[in-house]
Amino acid sequence: MASGTFAESGADLELVGIQKRFPGFTAIEHLDLTIPAGSFFALLGPSGCGKTTTLRLVAGLEDPSAGRILIGGKDVTGQKPYQRPVNTVFQSYALFPHMTVLENVAFGLRRRKIGDPVAKAHEALRLVELDHLASRRPVQLSGGQQQRVALARALVNRPALLLLDEPLGALDLKLRRQMQLELKTIQEEVGLTFLHVTHDQEEAMTMADTVAVMNKGQIEQMGAPEQLYELPKTTFVANFLGQSNLFVGPVVGNTSTSIAVDVAGTRIVVPTARAHRHAGEITVGVRPEKLSLHTEAPVIDSGRNLLGPGRVVDVSFSGVSTQYLVEVAGVGSVIVFAQNMAFGPVAHEGAEVWVSWNIDHGFGLDDDPA
Ligand code: ATP
Repeated sequence: MASGTFAESGADLELVGIQKRFPGFTAIEHLDLTIPAGSFFALLGPSGCGKTTTLRLVAGLEDPSAGRILIGGKDVTGQKPYQRPVNTVFQSYALFPHMTVLENVAFGLRRRKIGDPVAKAHEALRLVELDHLASRRPVQLSGGQQQRVALARALVNRPALLLLDEPLGALDLKLRRQMQLELKTIQEEVGLTFLHVTHDQEEAMTMADTVAVMNKGQIEQMGAPEQLYELPKTTFVANFLGQSNLFVGPVVGNTSTSIAVDVAGTRIVVPTARAHRHAGEITVGVRPEKLSLHTEAPVIDSGRNLLGPGRVVDVSFSGVSTQYLVEVAGVGSVIVFAQNMAFGPVAHEGAEVWVSWNIDHGFGLDDDPA
């Protein structure tokens, strides 16, 4: 991306005790959230969890039923959308078709009579590398270029906070991946606070420095993408962010470094530091790519967990890796992702197999087993 003189500090955002009730439906029961200035923050969750409602509350398009919204320490709760230092980029670009790219970007500035609109619009277009297309009309642009114009238009008056509501949802997969990286670069360049709403976990993890996983109007877990992936706190997070193998059982051993759980007669060990609970009936898990598949009973050391024998009930090839579904009596289904090597699949459907993993890769959840 082109470098420019765009840098302007973002503001932090604070949601304090937010509740949002619609007639007959409570979309958000109680939400507390602080987003530090200059961060790229993703609100991630399935359809209907309350992401867009949260964004609309911040933008001032909805009023909260209770709670306060502060931007840069200033209470904006009762303010109209245009009074807030906030702009939004939506999935639908909503560009004016009869105006040029430049006019589209300068439009808001003209209305507000801020500075030299043309110079500022050019500057915003340079930021998204579209200045050379300034005199075109939206219809003469690709979808990705139109979305970049929408971004330039939202950035041109330098909002302290930029809200992005599934902004890449209308783009095809390849362009979407490219735009994800570009958006991240732009955010780093302008230093503004970005609040990005998406249901795409890969998108959230690629772009954001902090991800909040939202479910049924509440935040289940918040943290750096790697942290959420490595140490999910709830069953929902473990399953929504990638895939997990989860096992339920009582804690039967507890030392300062590890806990042991009895899962249908098999002992599964998890490091104490990676488990949210250390007693009672708990759920432990491991990611499918952390597992090794064995076609003969392996001799394992005390640093590994072992399940099996089981039977491969499904094999699906997906280019770089193969996914194996293994049925282990008493334990249930286990998913294994194995990198594809030149010598073909590790095991075929119907084969007897064992599954093992380094105990350091397991985790223990904090929610009550279902
Ligand atoms: P999506 O990804 O599908 O846009 P979302 O997570 O953004 O979903 P919201 O649009 O915030 O979800 O909606 C949260 C819940 O609030 C949904 O169950 C929705 O049906 C409900 N809701 C949203 N707006 C209204 C409204 N105006 N009246 C009643 N219910 C509403």
